[in-house]
Amino acid sequence: MKNIPEFFGCQVFNDKVMRDRLPSDTYKALVETVEAGKPLELSVANVVANAMKKWAIEKGATHYTHWFQPMTGVTAEKHDSFINPDGKGNVIMKFSGKELVKGEPDASSFPSGGIRATFEARGYTAWDPSSYAFVKEGSLYIPTAFCSYTGEALDKKTPLLRSMEVLEREAIKILKLFGKDVKRVVTTIGPEQEYFIIDKEVYLKRPDLMYTGRTLFGAKPPKGQELEDQYFGQIKPRIAEYMADLDEELWKLGISAKTKHNEVAPAQHEMAPVFSTSNVASDHNQLTMEIMKKVADRHGLVCLLHEKPFAGVNGSGKHDNWSLSTDTGENLLNPGKTPFENAQFLLFLAAVIKAVDEYQDLLRISVASAGNDHRLGANEAPPAIISMFLGEELQEVLTAIENGETLEAHKKAIMDLGVSLIPKFNKDTTDRNRTSPFAFTGNKFEFRMVGSAASVAGPNTILNTIVANSLSDFYEELESSDDLIKDVMQLVKKTVKEHKRIIFNGNGYSKEWEEEAERRGLYNLKSTPEALSKMLDEKNIKLFEKFGVYTKGEMEARYEIYMENYCTVISIEALTMIDLIKKQVMPAVMDYEKTLIDLITGKQAVSVSDKMESALLEKISKLADAMYVKLEALEDAMLLVKNCKDTQETGMYYKDKVFLGMQELRAVVDELETLVAAEYWPLPTYAQMLYSVI
Ligand code: ADP
Ligand code: MG
Repeated sequence: MKNIPEFFGCQVFNDKVMRDRLPSDTYKALVETVEAGKPLELSVANVVANAMKKWAIEKGATHYTHWFQPMTGVTAEKHDSFINPDGKGNVIMKFSGKELVKGEPDASSFPSGGIRATFEARGYTAWDPSSYAFVKEGSLYIPTAFCSYTGEALDKKTPLLRSMEVLEREAIKILKLFGKDVKRVVTTIGPEQEYFIIDKEVYLKRPDLMYTGRTLFGAKPPKGQELEDQYFGQIKPRIAEYMADLDEELWKLGISAKTKHNEVAPAQHEMAPVFSTSNVASDHNQLTMEIMKKVADRHGLVCLLHEKPFAGVNGSGKHDNWSLSTDTGENLLNPGKTPFENAQFLLFLAAVIKAVDEYQDLLRISVASAGNDHRLGANEAPPAIISMFLGEELQEVLTAIENGETLEAHKKAIMDLGVSLIPKFNKDTTDRNRTSPFAFTGNKFEFRMVGSAASVAGPNTILNTIVANSLSDFYEELESSDDLIKDVMQLVKKTVKEHKRIIFNGNGYSKEWEEEAERRGLYNLKSTPEALSKMLDEKNIKLFEKFGVYTKGEMEARYEIYMENYCTVISIEALTMIDLIKKQVMPAVMDYEKTLIDLITGKQAVSVSDKMESALLEKISKLADAMYVKLEALEDAMLLVKNCKDTQETGMYYKDKVFLGMQELRAVVDELETLVAAEYWPLPTYAQMLYSVI
């Protein structure tokens, strides 16, 4: 048995290592910097860098790299060795504070949405001391933020850090009203990561999976997820070995992998870590995705993180469990034990309700991607409509508050009438509404729309900022209150009245909900281009500028980057599809047709019935013709993209013409697959992919 506590975090330059290895005044200065967000003195940075280098070399590192999260959604790194020529033909191993604190990667190839073109060609990376450095594959990794020389964020980390700061500031102000003197409020995330695992040999025969991460064709297998025998089912030995290896690798990097199980679709699984501070959780999730793929490769497997690798079975998401907690150990979304505490809880709850309703569009945008479009708003959960689920008990409490009723009438809510109308209630543990995109789950919210391949930084930047905005509005109203509890309850009542349309406790997958949501005036932004069309609305730009999370320029840049990414993904998919059909599907169909024709001719020569062969040939020929027509239509559609006038029009064109064309083409190819003999069909089938690991 391995001693987990002993090796957990062994690759991380964490608090314990820092305490052991840094002079105590350096350690103190560093901690102060992290806690107060103060800039680090270069003299301190030099000492830290030297200790880091020594430690990293002991762990086998020869290089260091600033590790950052450009807008591509994946992480970036450029490795420099520690070697430094001494002028006499020898080298010493050197790493300075300056090198630790700041880097200047050649960043011109990262997406900037035009920012760098207009300001300055280079970007720089700046050490984020609130996320620990670590050693991996012979390099010391230093988590950094990535900015342009004029300070615009070119990455996903910088806005997240900004948003955490503003939420902290606003939450502390509110807590002061309640007489609480807390120094820190941090947001926490526990991202549950879904993924598919398939056999590598099968994967290598599917160019669509290799180039686009998803299957562009594939007839439904005879067995999908109908039997529901996979969810929480026994884990197959090969997968279990993979998961054990994955856990170990993650633990070494200080990532607290906790839960693992089979998910709903065949070959689908989930891993959930113990939650941590948003920034760290976001870094860890990026690392987790990378390690998941690397470990899979060692086992002859491939880990698919795409939101919808296979049509017809569930796709993968990343449930973003989110809460706020104080340095005094209080979870601000935990219903309290006393009515007074509950007033505070209800105020934070109301802040979230108001935020989600007012900025539904931003939340939707924060999870928009070509991959995630297959889940949201398609036939799968959660729907593209943002709504909130609160659970029965909490709902009763809010309804009572709204109607000014005493809670006596509501049996389920445990009351404390001694003090006021404010209820005492238990944590609702009964929530199992899986169809809600944004559910309260006892002491946190679970935002279920995030795509499995996405960084959680974007959605959490939005979430933090919109809740900070509610709290800031609330503070203005409550600042000079002389009867806080009464006024808080009034404000909660008013907020519930104004924003209750966002609350929906029913079945989010139903057609009725779509109609009902429309009556309520909620957004139903079904695709990425539709969602993005709202991004630069005045209210959104105003919000981010008010809190300094994004400048208008950064928002415009991000809009360009997101839309361009959408178009590029669809374009690669379409080209892959066209290529695969021409090079593999068409020749296979023709081969099979030829076999049938030979057979039919032979049979006719000896006057034997060829009813089956002729009927089959007829069907295949018709479908082959249809395929050819749709293929040409798709090629034409691709050629006409250039006529689009602007970014928005291009995005909509890709969705309406190219993507739709691909779907129509796929339908024909999938039908052909069911008719062509297995030995002729060039691509592994769905059954082979989904059931390849035994
Ligand atoms: P389920 O699948 O039932 O939702 P899991 O145990 O798979 O539950 O995942 C729950 C996730 O929520 C875990 O990552 C857990 O650490 C996280 N979590 C728990 N409490 C908080 C909190 N206060 N803030 C953020 N995340 C939390
Ligand atoms: Mg969950």
